[in-house]
Amino acid sequence: MFDSQTGGHVGVADDPDVAGRPLATGVPGVYLFPGSFETIIGLLRQGIAAMAADEPVRRLHIPPVISRRVIEHAGYVKTFPHLLGTVHSYTGDSCGWQALAELVDEGGDWHAQQRISDLVLLPAACYPVYETLTDQALDGPRKFAVEGNCFRQEATSEIGRLRSFRMVELVTAATADYCLQWRAHWLERVSGWLRSLGLHVDVEVADDPFFGPGKKLFQAAQRMQELKLELRVPVADGVVQAVASANYHKDHFGETFRFSCDGEVGNTSCMAFGLERIALALINAHGPDSGSWPDGVLAALGGGHD
Ligand code: 5GP
Ligand code: ZN
Repeated sequence: MFDSQTGGHVGVADDPDVAGRPLATGVPGVYLFPGSFETIIGLLRQGIAAMAADEPVRRLHIPPVISRRVIEHAGYVKTFPHLLGTVHSYTGDSCGWQALAELVDEGGDWHAQQRISDLVLLPAACYPVYETLTDQALDGPRKFAVEGNCFRQEATSEIGRLRSFRMVELVTAATADYCLQWRAHWLERVSGWLRSLGLHVDVEVADDPFFGPGKKLFQAAQRMQELKLELRVPVADGVVQAVASANYHKDHFGETFRFSCDGEVGNTSCMAFGLERIALALINAHGPDSGSWPDGVLAALGGGHD
């Protein structure tokens, strides 16, 4: 993997012959995933679905793009402008394009007239869910299980830091008390699940990578209120990454999308799983061939026996 900051190769797929591991491409943080890696991703989906089997969730597959308006409205643009990938396209006429087209081969500025579209790349799988609740008065908790391909314009590409990655999320919209208790329950459950997968887990209070002059203040407030808890696991020798996070957003999305629950402004929590990172952690612990993993690990993924 090419590290855009150090200019060095530091990644998981230096040796293209290492079976089962993600294959680096010419751009940092973007990988190709071999079949055996996808088998692990499939097992993870199955394991998470089995954990959520007793929750009345609405399952949604989320596309890799989302309405720009929703992301602006939700506050993402103001707080994470450096991570957001926008979608631009050419809106001029064919005459105007002729001169620009000549610039393509020489790697020139053919995109000078691209204009921002009504879409941006999905930064987290849960955002589209909140919009579906717009103007609703919920008479009890609403629960969702979603998966999406997320994009973040990360500045570095150390092991486990991908720009394009898959995120599964369990999301609930409910009252404040319910959301806090739901998040505590899932934090406990997911830490136990990761341990049963043979992984060493640390739970830590965390913050999001805010941008701009408000950064320090936002991060301190987020930490003080313990809004974000991360489950950190070794993904390679000496490298620990957050493989999942348990988040409480208070009434941020309820206010933004005007939904309520049991007469109060809607609160929300989400439990997010980074599929590639958990897969890397499992490969690090048990090797790339999931067929030869311990029975207990396969059982925890819903595909074997204890
Ligand atoms: P969060 O919204 O908490 O930043 O991200 C949720 C989860 O997505 C993280 O716990 C992590 O597992 C995964 N994730 C976040 N950023 C990255 C990234 O740059 N690369 C990869 N592979 N996964 C990420
Ligand atoms: Zn989320």
